Amino acid sequence: PPRMRFAPSPTGSLHVGGARTALYNWLVAKKGQMDYPGSNAAFVLRVEDTDVARSTKESEASVIADLKWLGLIWDEGPDMEGTNYGPYRQSERSDIYFAAAQRLLQDGKAYRCFCTPEELEEMKAEQESRGETPRYDGRWRDADPALVKKMMDEGRPYTVRFKVPSNSRIVIEDVIRGTVAWDAEATVGDFILLRSSGVPVYNFCVAVDDAAMGITTVVRAEEHLTNTVRQALALDALNAPRPRYAHCSLILGEDKQKLSKRHGATSCDQYRLDGFLPDAMINYLALLGWNDGTDNEIFTREELIDAFDLNRVVKSPSVFDIEKLKWVNGQHLKMMSVTDVCPYVQDQLQWAGFFKADANMESQSVSDFTFACTSLAKTMMDTTKDAAINAKTVLGYGLPPKFEDLADDSEAKEMIKRGNFYVIAQKLLSMQDEGLLVMPDPANLLSAFADEDAQKVDTANGHSCQYTADYMKQMKVLAKELGVKGKNLFHPARLALTGEMSGQDVTKQLSLLELAVQADDVIDLDS
Ligand code: GLU
Repeated sequence: PPRMRFAPSPTGSLHVGGARTALYNWLVAKKGQMDYPGSNAAFVLRVEDTDVARSTKESEASVIADLKWLGLIWDEGPDMEGTNYGPYRQSERSDIYFAAAQRLLQDGKAYRCFCTPEELEEMKAEQESRGETPRYDGRWRDADPALVKKMMDEGRPYTVRFKVPSNSRIVIEDVIRGTVAWDAEATVGDFILLRSSGVPVYNFCVAVDDAAMGITTVVRAEEHLTNTVRQALALDALNAPRPRYAHCSLILGEDKQKLSKRHGATSCDQYRLDGFLPDAMINYLALLGWNDGTDNEIFTREELIDAFDLNRVVKSPSVFDIEKLKWVNGQHLKMMSVTDVCPYVQDQLQWAGFFKADANMESQSVSDFTFACTSLAKTMMDTTKDAAINAKTVLGYGLPPKFEDLADDSEAKEMIKRGNFYVIAQKLLSMQDEGLLVMPDPANLLSAFADEDAQKVDTANGHSCQYTADYMKQMKVLAKELGVKGKNLFHPARLALTGEMSGQDVTKQLSLLELAVQADDVIDLDS
């Protein structure tokens, strides 16, 4: 049964590359739990906070929040009771590393080195002057035990170094990269396990933890490939089986350079704020380096667990394509009901400032308004943020369509001529300024349509919103009165309402406007 781990260093926020690593580990673990029910198959979260200077609690909390948002929930991890392999923060495992180092010392697989920083500096300078790569020369490796004892009795500080066996080769069968081999001695000197301060060194902690936590497969980024030499040496010395390794290739930006801030958002949290769904994010991340051998690209979470196979992860780097992510997100939005999308849209509306500071987010008016915004944008949105942007457009936030702004827009002018825009605008907008098309007082605009007899109730997915007018019916009445119909009526009406040349059904836009005006918890349109 697979025991997988995701081992973030809490020194920043969760990057999309880290999220993909977490996802691949999670997928293998979940499949294992299905295949081996009741076993100890698990997705383990291990916080690698050995770098005290760079690790922060804030970063740990943000990584944890991002994993939770993605739904990559761990079976074992920090602050969880009743698990056998904890604690799950390296900063809380010092005793375990110390004991492991002690064992290696006893077995003669590690030794104490009493070199002072000055001596090491000198060694390095000499090697460099000879054109060699600086490396610890092993001067305490075979030291006289009596001398070691004397130094210890004198209380001299020492580091514990690993005794790299002579002529040893480290060979791994990487699931993604195939056979990778190193000449251990040529690659690493006798590296430090414990610093003189007693603080263990990162690669030693990883090896000890992977063994102690019974990790079967390590999926991680390519940049850790070279760490494998030290980790495998330590595992071998501890007589612990090595996990299988799978090193994932880099994620690149569209210009084929390593993905960085330059290319846009790299942190998972930004994608949440930008209106991407966790299921879509996971779907897209899975595709960054993997496919199921068919041209199927849309997978639910359950389908991914079933279809994912580490053996099909490609060695070549993948390119992060935001347009494709948007498309995947749009596909997931289409598969969901309006009601299921509502909670995400409500967040977007809140972040966009649609609700009053003291709004009751549980209220009917909030849920009606959210529902109207969602159903209005449902078929055209790539992200849930689009629903908020759309509502802004419809409600004229920051976008009062003024005739003078349209001066250069010949298409708009043409439309105005064709549709006898002024006549319609007068009716629609209760124009306030002569010759200027300004955003109407929403209440006036609505009263132009209000008709007690034309009440309409919108019902979908168990949610219903009531309006004072059936705007479609009213538009038909208006068409008759004005002698214009079809797009010659609808286009100018939309232009008057939103300042947009094209867009959604204007009668739905009017419905949304009505809800916005009436909702207690929605901010005043003119504020
Ligand atoms: N702590 C490492 C990182 O955050 C991961 C190391 C590993 O997976 O072995 O990059």
